[in-house]
Amino acid sequence: MSGDGAMHIQQTPSPNFDARSLPVSLLILHYTNMDSPEAAVARLCDRQSKVSAHYLISQTGEIIQMVDEASRAWHAGVAFWGGIEDVNSASIGIELDHQGHAADGTMAAYPEAQIASLIDLSQDIIARHNIAAAGVLGHSDVAPGRKTDPGEALDWARLAGHGIGLWLDAEAVEPVEALRRDMQNPAVAALQQALSAFGYKVAQDGVFGAALESVIISFQRHFRPTRIDGVADAETQTLIYALCRAARRH
Ligand SMILES: [Zn+2]
Repeated sequence: MSGDGAMHIQQTPSPNFDARSLPVSLLILHYTNMDSPEAAVARLCDRQSKVSAHYLISQTGEIIQMVDEASRAWHAGVAFWGGIEDVNSASIGIELDHQGHAADGTMAAYPEAQIASLIDLSQDIIARHNIAAAGVLGHSDVAPGRKTDPGEALDWARLAGHGIGLWLDAEAVEPVEALRRDMQNPAVAALQQALSAFGYKVAQDGVFGAALESVIISFQRHFRPTRIDGVADAETQTLIYALCRAARRH
């Protein structure tokens, strides 16, 4: 545990919510892609914006709640995970105050105080809703090709060490052929099947097209951040199959 007592949660209610039609099974992490937490809260509470989240965490670790957990916040947009089309209905959404990726594709680290609060809040949410490790995801996982948040600077390995999400180190990499754009073979079909079983939205057509490349990029951003290139190299494939097995055990 990183916390030292009760969390201090400020309340700034957003009008942007409605009723859930599914039980909570997912925790979705985001970055705000904005310059300040004040600007982000203003947007997430603006009726015109039609977006919201349950929580926002500032870079100094302040937690602001905008939507009650019992209600459906509007953070995921068009999204999919594990057969669920209405990801907002099935999830709690946390926004991390962060400027997002720079034009050159890099991104700043998340400050320690922000991550400490994220750990405390996530542990609390996961325990109360009994969310499985495999149900803790980034926005980019549920909206590949459309979203890049919370980005590879989020230390998912550290979060998993605190019981938040799945993480595996690729120790014994199977020496298999790298799969990439425009390939069409049984290994591509098997990879699509594994990614789909894990939860990603993947067509089962045996063709490594643009959509599959986007899914591989999202997978790497979360589970293999040292190289995010959309190529399902041997390490990426090993991790996908190992995480599928791990998700079934959790
Ligand atoms: Zn997002």
